[in-house]
Amino acid sequence: MIGLISATSAGAAARDRLAAAWPERTRVYEGPVGDAVRRAFAECEQLVCFLATGAVVRLVAPLLGDKTTDPGVVCVDEGGRFAVSLLGGHGGGANELAAEVGELLGAAPVVTTATDAVGIPGLDTLGLPVEGDVAGVTRALLDGEPVALDAEVAWPLPPVPFAAQDTAGAYRVRLTDRAVEPGDREVLLRPPSLVVGVGASKGAPAEEVLDVVEGALRDAGLSPRSVAELATVDAKAAEPGIVRAALRLGVPVVTYSAGELAAVEVPNPSAAPLAAVGTPSVAEAAALVRGGELLVPKRKSAGVPAMATCAVVRRPGRGRLAVVGLGPGARDLLTPRAKAELLRASVLVGLDQYVDQIRDLLRPGTRILESGLGAEEERARTAVAEARRGHAVALIGSGDAGVYAMASPALAEASDDIDVVGVPGVTAALAAAAILGAPLGHDHVSISLSDLHTPWEVIERRVRAAAEADIVVTFYNPRSRGRDWQLPKALAILAAHREPTTPVGVVRNASRPDQAARVTTLAELDPATVDMMTVVAVGNTATRNIAGRMVTPRGYRWQESTQEEPK
Ligand code: SAH
Repeated sequence: MIGLISATSAGAAARDRLAAAWPERTRVYEGPVGDAVRRAFAECEQLVCFLATGAVVRLVAPLLGDKTTDPGVVCVDEGGRFAVSLLGGHGGGANELAAEVGELLGAAPVVTTATDAVGIPGLDTLGLPVEGDVAGVTRALLDGEPVALDAEVAWPLPPVPFAAQDTAGAYRVRLTDRAVEPGDREVLLRPPSLVVGVGASKGAPAEEVLDVVEGALRDAGLSPRSVAELATVDAKAAEPGIVRAALRLGVPVVTYSAGELAAVEVPNPSAAPLAAVGTPSVAEAAALVRGGELLVPKRKSAGVPAMATCAVVRRPGRGRLAVVGLGPGARDLLTPRAKAELLRASVLVGLDQYVDQIRDLLRPGTRILESGLGAEEERARTAVAEARRGHAVALIGSGDAGVYAMASPALAEASDDIDVVGVPGVTAALAAAAILGAPLGHDHVSISLSDLHTPWEVIERRVRAAAEADIVVTFYNPRSRGRDWQLPKALAILAAHREPTTPVGVVRNASRPDQAARVTTLAELDPATVDMMTVVAVGNTATRNIAGRMVTPRGYRWQESTQEEPK
């Protein structure tokens, strides 16, 4: 819950806008501000105070406890110009809240947390438990001092500008699931790499389950903070001992069917679980069912008779391949999601000219693998190979990365051992259509005129089909220096089925600084004015030029039928 506190009527007006926009998330605290702040501080995860920072500092100072538990506090000034993240920038989410509040009120978010200001992700924002000298190592990163990364487990981390060399005495970030203590100038990051398979007889006490799990981890030298989940068979999903042990470890219980577990090859099958739940192994099979390395084979709890078993598996980190569309060029047509994926990736793969489009957004330390035109297959292979190594990879393309672009060659290479995320982008046809008017108001198709990878007969067959079906056509890759006869040929095919006056829209460099667009006709279009930076949209037989804009009606009967509606 976000507590809202204000003192003046201007503050109250801004407060009410927030409350109206987020009715479920906010609660208004009325009354004297001192009391209101104290109550909100005790009851809410976050506060937005429409008060001067000085006033808020004085009010919350006596209430401060610990940065892991204190609420995040954002101050908005009287004029509504700034949303200041005052307290709990990371842990309390105040930096993000300042951005959200700023967006809503039209205020500039003010964030002073060093890592956010310089674009380095805070070690405490990577989504992994951290231990050790977080402040010291973060300061070293910010000061540009060498910080070595010692990754014992591959994990798709966002870019942090680590130095490669681990020299003695240097600051160190150690990514490990082993039960080690952080040394001087060292931070431990705990990847959720361990899966503990558990089996339990009916009524097994939580203590006994916990004992066998903790004993197994301790004896194998593994950290409980790296346990991702307790895994077991469906029939034990609600077994109180397992459920409570998972709660105590702070991890979810994940279950699998007996059939699925029975199919897993394990070193220590036995007859008892086969009779009870229908699989010769529960603990080992549930830990191993999604693959990984068995670190602790099945062991039994100390009770007589033993009522619980467990086994521990290390699962390799799954790499992450984000296929990101950058939009047609303009920065404000790059989606926030695309931007987030670019910041999250530690490896960026793309065509050099697309990398240039977003280079300024990348975090320091991002490894950039750029190549020139024509190296599509190599780029696809590289991106997948990097993800397979456990990295977070962004493969970029202009417009939408799935439209005549990198998504299909990359996914053709990818196997199911990596996660793949697609981020849609504004493709050239849509960017151009918005400039031209409404050419795509009815059925439409995109056709690439590049016969580099597609035989011309196939392209021609598709153009002919579009012509016969009276579909609006947007041509991508319409014409280049070495390919000049395809566009006139394609237009001639359409002209056989459409009037010479059919509107044609030509857009070059949509949304880029040198954007140029015009609406002409099939008869008047001069193909020599078209190049590879251009798309050409040809209307259907209903498309009209209305006030210089290209408009394709929604349907032939649509206008009529809406007029029949009662007014
Ligand atoms: N993935 C891209 C298309 C790649 S094919 C997308 O979704 O937009 C390359 C062709 O796209 C170019 O030859 C041109 O026809 C078109 N194109 C890409 N960006 C463009 C832009 N900003 N303006 C006009 N056409 C563009």
